[in-house]
Amino acid sequence: MEDKLSYEISEIEDVIQIKIDVPFDVKFVYVYLLKIKEEYILFDAGLNMGNWPKSFFAALKRIGVSPKNLSHCIISHNHMDHIGLIGKLRRKNPSIQIAMHDITNKKMKWETNPENFSKVKEETKKLTSQLIRYGLNEEQGKRIIRYFLTWPKMKKYYKPDIILENNDCLLIRNDKLNVIWTPGHALGHICIYEEKRGYLFSGDHILSRITPHIGIFIINDSIREKYKDFDFENILKFYLNSLEEIRKLNPKIIFPAHQEVIYDPIERINAIKKHHEKRLHEISDVIKGNPMTPYEISKIHFGELDEINSFLALSEVLAHLIYLESQGKVQRKEKNQKIFFIT
Ligand SMILES: [Zn+2]
Repeated sequence: MEDKLSYEISEIEDVIQIKIDVPFDVKFVYVYLLKIKEEYILFDAGLNMGNWPKSFFAALKRIGVSPKNLSHCIISHNHMDHIGLIGKLRRKNPSIQIAMHDITNKKMKWETNPENFSKVKEETKKLTSQLIRYGLNEEQGKRIIRYFLTWPKMKKYYKPDIILENNDCLLIRNDKLNVIWTPGHALGHICIYEEKRGYLFSGDHILSRITPHIGIFIINDSIREKYKDFDFENILKFYLNSLEEIRKLNPKIIFPAHQEVIYDPIERINAIKKHHEKRLHEISDVIKGNPMTPYEISKIHFGELDEINSFLALSEVLAHLIYLESQGKVQRKEKNQKIFFIT
Protein backbone atom coordinates (compact mmCIF):
# COMPACT_ATOMS: atom_id res chain seq x y z
CA MET A 1 0.00 0.00 0.00
CA GLU A 2 1.38 3.42 -0.79
CA ASP A 3 2.38 5.80 1.94
CA LYS A 4 0.19 8.76 1.30
CA LEU A 5 -3.10 9.12 3.08
CA SER A 6 -5.93 9.11 0.66
CA TYR A 7 -9.63 9.24 1.23
CA GLU A 8 -12.65 10.68 -0.48
CA ILE A 9 -15.57 12.14 1.41
CA SER A 10 -19.00 12.51 -0.15
CA GLU A 11 -22.27 13.63 1.28
CA ILE A 12 -25.29 11.77 0.00
CA GLU A 13 -28.46 13.15 1.53
CA ASP A 14 -28.04 12.60 5.30
CA VAL A 15 -25.18 10.17 4.94
CA ILE A 16 -21.45 10.85 4.88
CA GLN A 17 -19.54 8.37 2.79
CA ILE A 18 -15.82 7.79 3.34
CA LYS A 19 -14.04 5.97 0.54
CA ILE A 20 -10.57 4.52 1.10
CA ASP A 21 -8.53 2.34 -1.26
CA VAL A 22 -7.61 -1.23 -0.43
CA PRO A 23 -4.93 -3.35 -2.07
CA PHE A 24 -7.30 -6.07 -3.34
CA ASP A 25 -9.56 -6.52 -6.31
CA VAL A 26 -12.50 -4.73 -4.70
CA LYS A 27 -10.26 -1.61 -5.01
CA PHE A 28 -11.85 0.38 -2.22
CA VAL A 29 -14.04 0.14 0.85
CA TYR A 30 -16.70 2.58 1.94
CA VAL A 31 -17.76 3.21 5.45
CA TYR A 32 -20.77 5.40 6.18
CA LEU A 33 -21.74 7.83 8.89
CA LEU A 34 -25.33 8.61 9.67
CA LYS A 35 -25.93 11.54 11.97
CA ILE A 36 -28.80 11.20 14.40
CA LYS A 37 -29.07 14.33 16.55
CA GLU A 38 -25.58 14.74 18.01
CA GLU A 39 -24.58 11.13 17.51
CA TYR A 40 -22.97 9.43 14.58
CA ILE A 41 -23.59 5.83 13.65
CA LEU A 42 -20.72 4.22 11.77
CA PHE A 43 -21.51 1.42 9.34
CA ASP A 44 -18.64 -1.06 9.16
CA ALA A 45 -15.13 -0.73 10.53
CA GLY A 46 -12.94 -0.96 7.42
CA LEU A 47 -9.53 -2.57 7.10
CA ASN A 48 -6.68 -2.65 9.59
CA MET A 49 -3.84 -2.66 7.06
CA GLY A 50 -1.37 -0.20 5.58
CA ASN A 51 -2.63 3.36 5.75
CA TRP A 52 -6.28 2.48 5.93
CA PRO A 53 -6.65 3.32 9.65
CA LYS A 54 -4.72 6.58 9.37
CA SER A 55 -6.70 7.59 6.31
CA PHE A 56 -9.95 6.84 8.09
CA PHE A 57 -9.13 8.92 11.18
CA ALA A 58 -7.81 11.74 8.98
CA ALA A 59 -11.11 11.70 7.06
CA LEU A 60 -13.06 11.83 10.33
CA LYS A 61 -10.99 14.80 11.45
CA ARG A 62 -11.55 16.50 8.13
CA ILE A 63 -15.33 16.37 8.60
CA GLY A 64 -15.01 17.53 12.18
CA VAL A 65 -16.08 14.30 13.83
CA SER A 66 -14.10 12.97 16.77
CA PRO A 67 -14.09 9.20 17.41
CA LYS A 68 -15.84 10.16 20.66
CA ASN A 69 -18.82 11.36 18.63
CA LEU A 70 -19.35 7.87 17.26
CA SER A 71 -22.04 6.32 19.40
CA HIS A 72 -22.35 3.03 17.51
CA CYS A 73 -20.44 1.00 14.98
CA ILE A 74 -22.52 -1.65 13.22
CA ILE A 75 -20.60 -4.46 11.54
CA SER A 76 -22.11 -6.03 8.40
CA HIS A 77 -20.01 -9.21 8.45
CA ASN A 78 -16.78 -10.82 9.59
CA HIS A 79 -14.50 -10.23 6.58
CA MET A 80 -11.20 -8.39 7.02
CA ASP A 81 -12.30 -5.22 5.23
CA HIS A 82 -15.34 -4.73 7.44
CA ILE A 83 -14.07 -5.37 10.96
CA GLY A 84 -10.56 -3.87 10.87
CA LEU A 85 -10.81 -0.86 13.13
CA ILE A 86 -12.98 -2.26 15.92
CA GLY A 87 -10.04 -2.29 18.35
CA LYS A 88 -8.81 1.19 17.44
CA LEU A 89 -12.30 2.64 17.63
CA ARG A 90 -12.77 1.20 21.07
CA ARG A 91 -9.41 2.51 22.23
CA LYS A 92 -10.21 6.02 21.03
CA ASN A 93 -13.78 5.87 22.32
CA PRO A 94 -14.33 3.36 25.15
CA SER A 95 -18.06 4.04 25.18
CA ILE A 96 -18.69 3.24 21.50
CA GLN A 97 -21.29 0.51 21.09
CA ILE A 98 -20.06 -2.16 18.71
CA ALA A 99 -22.91 -4.18 17.22
CA MET A 100 -22.86 -7.33 15.09
CA HIS A 101 -24.90 -10.41 14.34
CA ASP A 102 -24.74 -13.30 16.78
CA ILE A 103 -23.07 -15.57 14.20
CA THR A 104 -20.41 -12.99 13.35
CA ASN A 105 -19.59 -12.75 17.03
CA LYS A 106 -19.62 -16.51 17.66
CA LYS A 107 -17.47 -17.23 14.63
CA MET A 108 -14.85 -14.58 15.35
CA LYS A 109 -14.66 -15.48 19.02
CA TRP A 110 -14.12 -19.13 18.16
CA GLU A 111 -11.69 -18.90 15.28
CA THR A 112 -9.41 -16.24 16.77
CA ASN A 113 -8.86 -18.05 20.07
CA PRO A 114 -5.47 -19.84 19.83
CA GLU A 115 -6.87 -22.60 22.04
CA ASN A 116 -9.27 -23.47 19.24
CA PHE A 117 -6.74 -23.58 16.42
CA SER A 118 -6.60 -27.36 16.28
CA LYS A 119 -10.39 -27.48 16.23
CA VAL A 120 -10.48 -24.83 13.49
CA LYS A 121 -8.01 -26.93 11.54
CA GLU A 122 -10.09 -30.03 12.04
CA GLU A 123 -13.27 -28.30 10.80
CA THR A 124 -11.34 -26.90 7.82
CA LYS A 125 -10.06 -30.36 6.92
CA LYS A 126 -13.56 -31.78 7.20
CA LEU A 127 -14.88 -29.17 4.83
CA THR A 128 -11.99 -29.62 2.42
CA SER A 129 -12.46 -33.37 2.23
CA GLN A 130 -16.06 -32.62 1.32
CA LEU A 131 -14.82 -30.33 -1.46
CA ILE A 132 -12.52 -33.09 -2.69
CA ARG A 133 -15.59 -35.30 -3.01
CA TYR A 134 -17.10 -32.50 -5.08
CA GLY A 135 -14.22 -32.73 -7.52
CA LEU A 136 -11.18 -30.82 -6.26
CA ASN A 137 -7.89 -32.73 -6.26
CA GLU A 138 -5.83 -33.40 -3.12
CA GLU A 139 -3.24 -30.75 -3.93
CA GLN A 140 -5.91 -28.05 -4.36
CA GLY A 141 -7.44 -29.25 -1.12
CA LYS A 142 -4.20 -28.70 0.76
CA ARG A 143 -3.86 -25.18 -0.58
CA ILE A 144 -7.40 -24.38 0.45
CA ILE A 145 -6.72 -25.57 3.97
CA ARG A 146 -3.74 -23.21 4.12
CA TYR A 147 -5.86 -20.37 2.74
CA PHE A 148 -8.63 -20.89 5.27
CA LEU A 149 -6.22 -21.10 8.16
CA THR A 150 -4.51 -17.81 7.30
CA TRP A 151 -7.54 -15.61 7.94
CA PRO A 152 -8.28 -16.32 11.60
CA LYS A 153 -4.66 -15.55 12.50
CA MET A 154 -4.97 -12.11 10.94
CA LYS A 155 -8.03 -11.19 12.98
CA LYS A 156 -8.40 -10.13 16.55
CA TYR A 157 -11.48 -10.63 18.64
CA TYR A 158 -13.17 -7.78 20.47
CA LYS A 159 -16.30 -8.54 22.39
CA PRO A 160 -19.23 -6.61 20.88
CA ASP A 161 -21.55 -4.57 23.10
CA ILE A 162 -24.69 -5.42 21.17
CA ILE A 163 -25.49 -8.80 19.66
CA LEU A 164 -27.99 -8.56 16.84
CA GLU A 165 -30.48 -11.07 15.51
CA ASN A 166 -32.81 -10.98 12.55
CA ASN A 167 -35.54 -8.33 12.83
CA ASP A 168 -33.95 -6.64 15.83
CA CYS A 169 -34.43 -2.93 15.93
CA LEU A 170 -31.91 -0.46 17.28
CA LEU A 171 -33.72 2.61 18.46
CA ILE A 172 -31.35 5.56 18.43
CA ARG A 173 -33.12 8.70 19.57
CA ASN A 174 -36.23 8.42 17.44
CA ASP A 175 -34.60 6.67 14.52
CA LYS A 176 -35.24 3.02 13.97
CA LEU A 177 -32.46 0.92 12.52
CA ASN A 178 -33.86 -2.46 11.53
CA VAL A 179 -31.62 -5.48 11.31
CA ILE A 180 -32.09 -7.83 8.37
CA TRP A 181 -30.09 -11.02 8.62
CA THR A 182 -28.83 -11.75 5.11
CA PRO A 183 -26.77 -14.97 5.05
CA GLY A 184 -25.06 -15.69 1.74
CA HIS A 185 -21.80 -13.84 1.32
CA ALA A 186 -21.09 -14.50 4.99
CA LEU A 187 -23.21 -16.51 7.38
CA GLY A 188 -23.67 -13.70 9.89
CA HIS A 189 -24.10 -10.98 7.28
CA ILE A 190 -26.63 -8.26 8.10
CA CYS A 191 -28.06 -5.25 6.32
CA ILE A 192 -29.40 -2.27 8.22
CA TYR A 193 -32.57 -0.53 7.12
CA GLU A 194 -33.21 2.98 8.28
CA GLU A 195 -36.97 3.23 7.98
CA LYS A 196 -37.58 6.93 8.10
CA ARG A 197 -35.29 7.83 5.23
CA GLY A 198 -35.53 4.53 3.34
CA TYR A 199 -31.78 3.91 3.51
CA LEU A 200 -30.36 0.43 3.31
CA PHE A 201 -26.75 -0.16 4.39
CA SER A 202 -26.05 -3.36 2.51
CA GLY A 203 -22.44 -4.33 3.30
CA ASP A 204 -21.53 -6.84 0.59
CA HIS A 205 -25.02 -8.32 0.23
CA ILE A 206 -26.05 -6.03 -2.63
CA LEU A 207 -23.41 -4.38 -4.81
CA SER A 208 -23.96 -2.22 -7.86
CA ARG A 209 -22.01 -4.14 -10.50
CA ILE A 210 -21.16 -7.62 -9.31
CA THR A 211 -23.11 -10.28 -7.50
CA PRO A 212 -21.34 -11.06 -4.26
CA HIS A 213 -19.70 -14.43 -3.86
CA ILE A 214 -21.99 -16.92 -2.14
CA GLY A 215 -19.90 -18.83 0.31
CA ILE A 216 -19.16 -22.07 2.04
CA PHE A 217 -18.51 -21.60 5.72
CA ILE A 218 -16.48 -23.13 8.45
CA ILE A 219 -18.55 -23.06 11.59
CA ASN A 220 -18.24 -24.41 15.08
CA ASP A 221 -20.52 -26.41 17.34
CA SER A 222 -22.03 -23.42 19.13
CA ILE A 223 -23.33 -22.03 15.82
CA ARG A 224 -24.38 -25.46 14.59
CA GLU A 225 -26.32 -26.09 17.76
CA LYS A 226 -28.11 -22.79 18.00
CA TYR A 227 -29.03 -22.74 14.31
CA LYS A 228 -29.75 -26.45 13.94
CA ASP A 229 -33.06 -25.77 12.22
CA PHE A 230 -31.32 -23.87 9.43
CA ASP A 231 -29.95 -25.73 6.44
CA PHE A 232 -26.95 -23.52 5.72
CA GLU A 233 -25.85 -25.86 2.93
CA ASN A 234 -28.66 -24.39 0.87
CA ILE A 235 -27.13 -20.96 1.23
CA LEU A 236 -28.39 -19.61 -2.08
CA LYS A 237 -31.94 -20.02 -0.78
CA PHE A 238 -31.10 -17.81 2.21
CA TYR A 239 -29.45 -15.29 -0.04
CA LEU A 240 -32.40 -15.08 -2.46
CA ASN A 241 -34.98 -15.00 0.33
CA SER A 242 -33.26 -12.12 2.04
CA LEU A 243 -32.99 -10.26 -1.26
CA GLU A 244 -36.73 -10.63 -1.58
CA GLU A 245 -37.24 -9.36 1.95
CA ILE A 246 -35.27 -6.26 1.08
CA ARG A 247 -37.15 -5.82 -2.18
CA LYS A 248 -40.40 -5.74 -0.20
CA LEU A 249 -39.07 -2.94 1.97
CA ASN A 250 -38.67 -0.88 -1.19
CA PRO A 251 -35.61 1.06 -0.02
CA LYS A 252 -34.92 4.43 -1.54
CA ILE A 253 -31.12 4.25 -1.61
CA ILE A 254 -28.72 1.36 -1.04
CA PHE A 255 -25.34 2.18 0.48
CA PRO A 256 -22.98 -0.74 -0.27
CA ALA A 257 -19.47 -1.30 1.07
CA HIS A 258 -17.92 -1.34 -2.43
CA GLN A 259 -18.67 -0.02 -5.91
CA GLU A 260 -21.38 2.60 -6.45
CA VAL A 261 -24.28 3.82 -4.35
CA ILE A 262 -27.51 2.33 -5.72
CA TYR A 263 -30.33 4.75 -6.49
CA ASP A 264 -32.56 2.20 -8.21
CA PRO A 265 -32.66 -0.57 -5.58
CA ILE A 266 -35.54 -2.57 -7.05
CA GLU A 267 -33.97 -2.66 -10.49
CA ARG A 268 -30.65 -3.78 -9.03
CA ILE A 269 -32.27 -6.47 -6.86
CA ASN A 270 -34.20 -7.78 -9.87
CA ALA A 271 -30.99 -7.90 -11.91
CA ILE A 272 -29.20 -9.90 -9.21
CA LYS A 273 -32.12 -12.35 -9.01
CA LYS A 274 -32.08 -12.69 -12.78
CA HIS A 275 -28.35 -13.39 -12.74
CA HIS A 276 -28.89 -16.30 -10.35
CA GLU A 277 -31.88 -17.62 -12.32
CA LYS A 278 -29.75 -17.60 -15.46
CA ARG A 279 -26.95 -19.44 -13.71
CA LEU A 280 -29.40 -22.02 -12.35
CA HIS A 281 -30.59 -22.66 -15.90
CA GLU A 282 -27.09 -22.84 -17.35
CA ILE A 283 -25.96 -25.30 -14.72
CA SER A 284 -28.94 -27.61 -15.19
CA ASP A 285 -28.46 -27.49 -18.97
CA VAL A 286 -24.82 -28.53 -18.75
CA ILE A 287 -25.64 -31.64 -16.73
CA LYS A 288 -28.66 -32.75 -18.73
CA GLY A 289 -28.03 -36.49 -19.07
CA ASN A 290 -24.37 -35.78 -18.41
CA PRO A 291 -23.25 -36.33 -14.80
CA MET A 292 -20.48 -33.98 -13.67
CA THR A 293 -18.83 -33.04 -10.41
CA PRO A 294 -19.44 -29.49 -9.18
CA TYR A 295 -15.78 -28.75 -9.83
CA GLU A 296 -16.05 -29.86 -13.48
CA ILE A 297 -19.10 -27.66 -13.90
CA SER A 298 -17.29 -24.70 -12.36
CA LYS A 299 -14.44 -25.13 -14.86
CA ILE A 300 -16.93 -24.90 -17.72
CA HIS A 301 -18.43 -21.74 -16.25
CA PHE A 302 -15.34 -19.96 -15.03
CA GLY A 303 -12.45 -21.63 -16.90
CA GLU A 304 -9.17 -22.66 -15.27
CA LEU A 305 -8.46 -20.47 -12.24
CA ASP A 306 -5.83 -20.23 -9.55
CA GLU A 307 -6.53 -22.21 -6.39
CA ILE A 308 -8.43 -19.58 -4.44
CA ASN A 309 -10.56 -18.48 -7.32
CA SER A 310 -11.21 -22.08 -8.27
CA PHE A 311 -12.42 -22.62 -4.73
CA LEU A 312 -14.66 -19.54 -4.98
CA ALA A 313 -16.00 -20.74 -8.34
CA LEU A 314 -16.65 -24.19 -6.93
CA SER A 315 -18.51 -22.89 -3.90
CA GLU A 316 -20.62 -20.67 -6.15
CA VAL A 317 -21.58 -23.59 -8.42
CA LEU A 318 -22.19 -25.82 -5.44
CA ALA A 319 -24.60 -23.30 -3.90
CA HIS A 320 -26.60 -23.35 -7.13
CA LEU A 321 -26.57 -27.16 -7.36
CA ILE A 322 -27.76 -27.59 -3.79
CA TYR A 323 -30.53 -25.08 -4.43
CA LEU A 324 -31.61 -27.02 -7.54
CA GLU A 325 -31.39 -30.27 -5.62
CA SER A 326 -33.68 -28.90 -2.88
CA GLN A 327 -36.26 -28.21 -5.59
CA GLY A 328 -35.92 -31.74 -6.94
CA LYS A 329 -34.47 -30.47 -10.21
CA VAL A 330 -31.10 -32.23 -10.03
CA GLN A 331 -29.96 -35.47 -8.46
CA ARG A 332 -26.64 -36.42 -6.97
CA LYS A 333 -24.85 -39.70 -7.63
CA GLU A 334 -21.75 -41.08 -6.03
CA LYS A 335 -19.00 -42.92 -7.89
CA ASN A 336 -15.40 -43.62 -6.85
CA GLN A 337 -15.86 -41.35 -3.82
CA LYS A 338 -16.74 -38.38 -6.01
CA ILE A 339 -20.14 -36.74 -6.10
CA PHE A 340 -21.76 -36.07 -9.48
CA PHE A 341 -24.88 -34.11 -10.28
CA ILE A 342 -27.27 -34.82 -13.14
CA THR A 343 -30.62 -33.60 -14.46
ZN1 LIG B 1 -16.15 -6.46 1.50
